Amino acid sequence: MSGIAILLVRCPRCQHTMKYQQSKILTTQRKQCVYCGRSFLIRGNIA
Ligand SMILES: [Zn+2]
Repeated sequence: MSGIAILLVRCPRCQHTMKYQQSKILTTQRKQCVYCGRSFLIRGNIA
């Protein structure tokens, strides 16, 4: 394995889940929801 993980994260606003390719240690990274556009923290929203 290369150390790159594919995580499933859930948007706290619209509850949609989406894939997130993770290549670093989880810190305070944010992702923008592809459905509603909300930016949210990856950590704490892993599905
Ligand atoms: Zn959303």
